[in-house]
Amino acid sequence: MALKESEAIVLRTYPLREADLLVTLFTRAEGKVRGVARSAKKSKRRFGGALEPLTYVRAHYEDRERQELARLDSFEVLESPLAAEMSYPRAVALGHVAELLDELLPDREVNDAVFRLALSVLPALRDTDVWMPITYFELWMTRLMGYLPELSECIMCGGGLNGSRAYFHVLVDGLMCKDDKRLASSEMSASSRSMAAQMFRSPIESFAGQAWTKANGADLRKFLTQTLQRHIEKKLVTAGMLEKISS
Ligand SMILES: [Zn+2]
Repeated sequence: MALKESEAIVLRTYPLREADLLVTLFTRAEGKVRGVARSAKKSKRRFGGALEPLTYVRAHYEDRERQELARLDSFEVLESPLAAEMSYPRAVALGHVAELLDELLPDREVNDAVFRLALSVLPALRDTDVWMPITYFELWMTRLMGYLPELSECIMCGGGLNGSRAYFHVLVDGLMCKDDKRLASSEMSASSRSMAAQMFRSPIESFAGQAWTKANGADLRKFLTQTLQRHIEKKLVTAGMLEKISS
């Protein structure tokens, strides 16, 4: 079969037999593709430096008859996350973006909006400040997957929430007013709700240079993580790791 070529983002790699790797790629041309990189650990020429999560590559691969896994021929690095200094928070943040893409995207389904989102978040993840890009990515990803409820009204009574307090609960699909909130609900601050609205109107570059700490948008990220985990029916490994980062 013919060799294909596509821009792609490396999501994950798993060791497979001796020197081979199983690689999950998010390709622009075909969506998520899984394939085997034969002798990848030895072949610097074909895959050198291109196997870190969130490396942006030009991938060459081919499908094999009656085989689910593609044969990965070679990757050419277009942009590597290793070009900037790697800190632990940054490594976890890159892993988080990769995990969300891997868990939320179906195999072999083109999604150019998500591909463009991922590409726009990559440069923002060069810095040590990870919370703004993580929040931006989670928010847009939840929306592009069709999982984001209306944030300006109570999911129970339909009442408007702008100007009043809003709450969320791990088992409920949207925000609730103070009369409808359940026991053990968390509050979503007005500032996080207005930040979300701003993020839907503006490209990620317009938030660059804002000093974020972990506290910024923490309630929004908790709500988004709960929403995503409810839909995929499992815990996100990297969400727990992000939770443990101290600043
Ligand atoms: Zn209500």
